Amino acid sequence: MRRVPLVPAYGGASLPDLARSLLAALGLDEPNPLAIAPATRTCLFLVDGLGAELLRAHAGTAPFLTAAAESAAAKTAAAAAAPARAAGTALATPATLTAGFPATTVTSLCSLGTGLPPGEHGMLGLTLAVPGAGRLFNCLRWTGMPMDPAEWQPSPTVYQRAAAAGIEPAYVAPAEFEGSGLTGAVYRGVRYAPAETADDRVTRALAELARPRAHVTVYYGDLDAAGHLTGWGSDEWLRELAIVDRMAARLAEGLPDGAALYVTADHGMVNATDKLDAEATPELTRGVAMLGGEARARHVYAEPGAAADVLDAWEATLRGRAWVVPREEAVEAGWFGPKVRDEWLGRIGDVVAVPYTDLAIIAPAAHRIEALFTGYHGSMTAAEQLVPLVEVSRR
Ligand SMILES: [Zn+2]
Repeated sequence: MRRVPLVPAYGGASLPDLARSLLAALGLDEPNPLAIAPATRTCLFLVDGLGAELLRAHAGTAPFLTAAAESAAAKTAAAAAAPARAAGTALATPATLTAGFPATTVTSLCSLGTGLPPGEHGMLGLTLAVPGAGRLFNCLRWTGMPMDPAEWQPSPTVYQRAAAAGIEPAYVAPAEFEGSGLTGAVYRGVRYAPAETADDRVTRALAELARPRAHVTVYYGDLDAAGHLTGWGSDEWLRELAIVDRMAARLAEGLPDGAALYVTADHGMVNATDKLDAEATPELTRGVAMLGGEARARHVYAEPGAAADVLDAWEATLRGRAWVVPREEAVEAGWFGPKVRDEWLGRIGDVVAVPYTDLAIIAPAAHRIEALFTGYHGSMTAAEQLVPLVEVSRR
């Protein structure tokens, strides 16, 4: 049976939809596809790497999130079954969202930061070709060549839009990311509230929520880091999951009146059982000028005139293990959103290769540490695409 990609539900239930719906809930003139009820203060707890399937598989380690997720799912089901729902009335807020493609941090942070699908904001993967420069740019580390964040990602952020409406948005995260290129691209206009430990981040977020109107985002990255190093489900990963669950419970407990908490993630994860070294496989290097993306969402940039041959070779080599399509097909299939801005097309590989088995397409010379990982993400499997949306309300 041919595997079918879980194409993100842009415009219906995806991360950019959450970003805009939260602004709508705060009273801004934005669409609200997730039917989020009005609130004077919102807190978004963004847990890097907390896939919905991963959470379900380890429900016992995260009792708070599991109970909240189950009650959200029950509410959604009840609303869907309600008779005589007036035409145009939104369904209840969904309990699960799709991350977006690729299912990776830079892309999802940008979707949440702009409320736009990847095809419009342009953060189309971890490492991308800079059209015309013949160079790869790393969107996470902001390395490869000098890059103005406002040029790479020119759209106004949701934080700028909130600030213009009189709501001062705050971002609670470790100090090390303040002033980074990625922060400049996706968190433009936010007030950075540095906090290091898990407990400090919760305390800081609750202090921010004490303002009369607030839009607070809290980031936690250690679950994803543990998953990469030792695999999701490992002891280290489970320890982090328990920390995340306690953070969510404390945030929920401390919510002031009029506030609502949303817990979600930027992507899930798979543990690789199969690795293919793209640098040491002649079929995968012939005609290839640059290899971008990451292990589960590869952008393959071909030498001039070689795109068709590269497509054939990658297709043949990865048959039964990955979706391998030319750029035009990935765009038309809506992987990056309903449309891709013309100026971003050159950031997409001539060939896009996306594993659907537990395969990681590694490049150890260029990315030594990544090649050694156990857990990876990026693709359109349910384990990577589906993220929970847990709501706790004090409205
Ligand atoms: Zn990651």
